[in-house]
Amino acid sequence: MNIPPVRHRRPAPRYRLVNTTRFIAVLLVFFLAITAIIIAGATANNNNNNNNDNVEEPSDESSVVVTPVATPTPEPTPAIEIPEGKTMEPVLVVVDAGHGGRDPGTISPYDDTFFEKDVVLDIAKRVEKYLKDKGINAMLTRDGDYHFNDSIDKDLLERADIANRNNASLFVSIHVNAYDLKFKGAAAVNGMEVYYLNKDTVYTDFTDERYAEIVANKIIEFTGIKFNGIKSRGLSVLRNTHMPAILVETAYITNKEDHARLKSNDFRDKTAKGIVDGIELVLDEIGAFEHQGELYVFKEAGE
Ligand SMILES: [Zn+2]
Repeated sequence: MNIPPVRHRRPAPRYRLVNTTRFIAVLLVFFLAITAIIIAGATANNNNNNNNDNVEEPSDESSVVVTPVATPTPEPTPAIEIPEGKTMEPVLVVVDAGHGGRDPGTISPYDDTFFEKDVVLDIAKRVEKYLKDKGINAMLTRDGDYHFNDSIDKDLLERADIANRNNASLFVSIHVNAYDLKFKGAAAVNGMEVYYLNKDTVYTDFTDERYAEIVANKIIEFTGIKFNGIKSRGLSVLRNTHMPAILVETAYITNKEDHARLKSNDFRDKTAKGIVDGIELVLDEIGAFEHQGELYVFKEAGE
């Protein structure tokens, strides 16, 4: 096919200049016309005001000519309708690293410098960080190697109280399991468990058991560790917290394979990520919602 060559026409600068000048002229005329209309309007307005002088009316404001500007109706802050019998609270996840300080928790039978308290603090810190990375507010009960009370009972109560005082939305305690090696076959016991205790519901149709189930499933998904199931148990931190709470026994320090897992960065990280992804699902299930950039939940108001 014979295609005619494309001709690149140079723009004629003169023509353009003329055009621009004409355009500016039109604009000027336009603005002059607008100004004339405004002035005419203002005069008419003034006359009106003068005529109304006899009528008793505060005339201070009316004498000022204000170019009418459409005042945009201020966008109303979307009002949150709090359901009856509920309170609205900012989402907070309290992450508890078990033991600490004088209480080492379980001690490795294979390495007497390897303690539960250190492993769980590391995992808890990762959980806190990953939650915050996802925009989920979180706090640790302890962020270092210390305990709250020499009495184990009071120490455990303090952990639950930290969650209660801060109106936590969810509580998770992280531990390492051990089996008494005096028993035959004890060293073979391995795997992960999640403990819960069903209490008065804080979120409609949501139980502690469901919380345990969701988080456990996510941990297995990440770590592939043997799962021994979710178990109901009246543990102190589960009993004394006023919000859904679980206790994760991450692995057995007395089992050689689990021991290696607990020592590995990879296992600790995957366990933390499993817990965090589980919590994210739980927040979704209990209807956590964003309001002005923050996450909130509705809780049963209680007494
Ligand atoms: Zn423990």
